[in-house]
Amino acid sequence: MHLTDKFGREITYLRLAITDRCNLRCQYCMPAHGIDIVDRKELLTYKEMYRITRILSELGVNKVRLTGGEPFVRKDFIKFLETLSFNDKLDQINITTNGALIAKHIPKLEELNIKAINLSLDTLQADRFKTITRRNVFTETMETLDKLLESSLQIKLNVVVIPGLNTDEIVDFIELTKDKDLSVRFIEEMPFNGVGQKTDDEIWNMKKIYHEIEKNYNNIIPLKSKRSSTSQNYTLEAYKGSFGIIPAFTRTICNDCNRIRITATGMFKNCLFDDGVFNIRDFMRNGASDKEIAQLFINTVHKKPKNGFVAEANRRDNVSESMSTIGG
Ligand code: SF4
Repeated sequence: MHLTDKFGREITYLRLAITDRCNLRCQYCMPAHGIDIVDRKELLTYKEMYRITRILSELGVNKVRLTGGEPFVRKDFIKFLETLSFNDKLDQINITTNGALIAKHIPKLEELNIKAINLSLDTLQADRFKTITRRNVFTETMETLDKLLESSLQIKLNVVVIPGLNTDEIVDFIELTKDKDLSVRFIEEMPFNGVGQKTDDEIWNMKKIYHEIEKNYNNIIPLKSKRSSTSQNYTLEAYKGSFGIIPAFTRTICNDCNRIRITATGMFKNCLFDDGVFNIRDFMRNGASDKEIAQLFINTVHKKPKNGFVAEANRRDNVSESMSTIGG
C-alpha cells in the first residue's frame, strides 16, 4: 500500500520536526522574546518518532528530513539518528540545521550515512548575522560550513531572502559556488514568523531574486531538477557548485508535491500552509495499533489539498505561527 492523494501525487517524503526549541531567534521565524515552547511531555518521544517513521516507510515514504526548531538542541538526537539509520526502508535521512552546534558531530553524521545537510545561513557578515539571528554564533556557524565542505556529506545552504536585510548579498552567496561543490538555495520569505504576514516590506519573490541574479551574470545555465524538487536550479559556466530559488511563498511547486509534515508535538500536516489535520501523538498515546495508524495516514493523505493556496484558504485562522513550531 502507498500514500497517494486524490490528485494522484505519491507521498514519499516526511519532514519530521525533532523539537520546537531553538538556540537562535531569527527575525523571519520568531519574535525577539522567542515563542511559548511546549512542555517536554507534549513533544513526541524518540520512540514515537521511530514508530511513526517505520509505519510511514512501510507505506512508501523513503526520504526523511529532520528539522526543528534546531534538532541538535534536543538531548540524545545523535542516538535517535543511530536508531533511525537502522530503518533500511529509508533511502535518505537528511537534516536541516542552523549549524551552530554541529561541528563536533560531523564525523558521526558521516558514519551514520546521513545523506544531506541543509545549513540555514542568511548572511556572510558577522554583524548582520547577529542582527538577523539575535545571537552571536557566526564564527561557530562558519566553522561548521568549512567542516561540512571538507566532509563527504552533501551540503545545501538555505538563504532566506529578507527585504532590507540581505538582498545585497545574493551575488556573494553565488560566488561561494565558484570553487566549492555547494548548492545555495534562495528561499522566499514566508509569514511563519510568530506574528503573521508583514505588509510594509517590498516582496522579493522568485522573479525578483532571479532578476537580481540576471543583472549580474550573463552565463546562467538552467539545471534539470527532480520532479518533486522544491527549487529551480542553475549553475554558471566554470562554477563548481549551483544555486537555486525556492518559490516557497509563491507556491508554484505544488503540482509535484510529495511531502507531508509532522510537528514536534505530533501534529500531522498535509501541507506547510494548513493548520494541522490531526494529532498523531494523541492517537498513539490513546493506544492506536500500527494498522489503525497506517489507515489514518492513508485516509488523511488522500485529502491533501491541491496546493498551498487551497490549504491556506481552508485554515481556521491566519498564518502566524512560528516556523520553529512547524519544522519548515
Ligand atoms: S505549499 Fe503545500 S502543497 Fe505546495 S509544495 Fe508546499 S507543502 Fe506542497
